[in-house]
Amino acid sequence: MKILILDLDETLVYSTLDAVSPHCTKRAVEGNTYYTMFRPGLHTFLHHVRKHFECYIWSTGQQPYVEDVWSLIDMEGFRLWGRNYCSHSDTNPNEPYEKPLRKITDDLTQAIIVDNTPSVFAKTPLNGIEIRTWHGDQSDTELEHLAIYLDWLRHQASFQRNHGAWRFETLCLRSK
Ligand SMILES: [Mg+2]
Repeated sequence: MKILILDLDETLVYSTLDAVSPHCTKRAVEGNTYYTMFRPGLHTFLHHVRKHFECYIWSTGQQPYVEDVWSLIDMEGFRLWGRNYCSHSDTNPNEPYEKPLRKITDDLTQAIIVDNTPSVFAKTPLNGIEIRTWHGDQSDTELEHLAIYLDWLRHQASFQRNHGAWRFETLCLRSK
């Protein structure tokens, strides 16, 4: 089975403590209020990838927050993991968590992780796609491009490679 692990914050959504945009939706979890908005193309992207991958949402956020955001996104077919499934990082003091892929699978040739914080996949760099950090730009097209790249990648024998130029490679794929 081909496995796709997606980060949540600043990859698929952006959450803040204040309503910074008319696109925000107010939420409350365990007494805390926050505001969330969706990256452009989110539902189209998720609907597409779940047809081709076993999909996980793996966040460094707390599990109740992850589950609440997901209830707002309202899409079935994704497993949700929060901070409890992360390990502690020794490489980046600003992002103290890592996402150890081997917790999900022993076959790293068939697993890919998408995150705006590359240090979370520092131990398995050939399995990581760095997506641009998203803070609400409504003209963002990263998810549209990412879907094209993943469509190409899922047909490769191994997902392990240097994904550093993925956005550029997607432009090449589009022109075919
Ligand atoms: Mg993130």
